[in-house]
Amino acid sequence: MNKWDCLEETLKNLKRENLYRHITEFASSQSKEIIVNGRKMLLFASNSYLDLCNVPEVKDYASKIALEYGTGSGGSRLTTGTTDVHMRLEEILAGYKGREASIVFNTGYMGNVGTISALAGKGDVIFSDELNHASIIDGCRLSKANLVIYKHNDMVDLEMKVKEYISNKTNGSTAEGAPVKANNVCRGLIVSDGVFSMDGDIVNLPELVEIADGYNLFSMIDEAHATGVIGETGRGTEEYYHMEGKVDILMGTLSKSIGSEGGFVCGSRTLVEFLINKARSYIFSTSLSPVTMGASYMSIKYIMEHNERVERLQHNIKYFCHCLTDEGIDVKSDTSIIPIIIGDEKKALEVSEELKNRGYYVSAIRYPTVAKGCARLRVALMATHTDEELLAFSKSIGQVYRKMHRI
Ligand SMILES: *Cc1c(COP(=O)(O)O)cnc(C)c1O
Repeated sequence: MNKWDCLEETLKNLKRENLYRHITEFASSQSKEIIVNGRKMLLFASNSYLDLCNVPEVKDYASKIALEYGTGSGGSRLTTGTTDVHMRLEEILAGYKGREASIVFNTGYMGNVGTISALAGKGDVIFSDELNHASIIDGCRLSKANLVIYKHNDMVDLEMKVKEYISNKTNGSTAEGAPVKANNVCRGLIVSDGVFSMDGDIVNLPELVEIADGYNLFSMIDEAHATGVIGETGRGTEEYYHMEGKVDILMGTLSKSIGSEGGFVCGSRTLVEFLINKARSYIFSTSLSPVTMGASYMSIKYIMEHNERVERLQHNIKYFCHCLTDEGIDVKSDTSIIPIIIGDEKKALEVSEELKNRGYYVSAIRYPTVAKGCARLRVALMATHTDEELLAFSKSIGQVYRKMHRI
């Protein structure tokens, strides 16, 4: 077999299983109204929930930084790639999340991979929700720690698995049968999405934190879809539960509601110093440019000063769920992610195509992002959608959905 044949074979199989991916080119900024294939459409698929990628306040500030500081950062954070703009962003982020300190990574993906692999190593343990984001999974794999997957958001299963693990350890053997010193309960971590990216549900934080604290494990929450969305002022999962300051490691991204790029971890000064010294994805990569850092900074400032954006998004979530229920589609969500489960991969693609024909851009999510046979439409709401737009969109979904069920 020619070396290229097996790659082509894989691609052919993906096409046959309706799992082939292609790129869609947007000829516009990432905001509510987009232009795709020369056609204006309404966007219901973006992670830019507060629709801040194209606001004048942020753009003007980023432009000013570009003129003053130029483009690239020229080095990694620990060499020549840190400016006062980088430091200002980390300061405002720590304040926004109510923490002593923060550290910015180049992406959320790199934040998870770098943080998890720094905090846990061979012989340590990580307890991870079965629906956690791929970047958490990759961080766990890279860490070489013992990995224990618990049932989705099931705190009874989590606690059982923690107990079982610790009792095996103290009885003198690991899962692999290697001898362990008694009471050598090394470092351990419980990690979960705050808002799950494909289901839009929220972690059971009170119980997760209680288990973590009770067994001397670190708690780590990924706030990618929670920041700017849940909690009265959009500060995320802790604010949603009124549990400010209770999570050890608050990870998040600047690329979703914040409308920029980058990942972050907020926490204690010790945690941040540790990551600066140990997180390889932070140390061995050129830092983001001051322009990007400046955009994130101004965007966070904007959110803090314009809580009405967050309130409007929360209104849209309630209103849209209500509209869909009226269409006979039973959904419930407290987050901007509204999954409509279709099941079959091909059908999910057809439904999303049909909605695109009607001028609505919405994604069909398939394996491996979700399990096989659990394909879905993933509606993502923005703060700028109006009631009229949400109502009309829900009616279109209703029509397409009913047509699909008749087939
Ligand atoms: C998007 C996402 C990430 C990765 O963040 P990027 O900044 O896009 O790399 C991490 N975790 C979750 C839950 C996400 O949804």
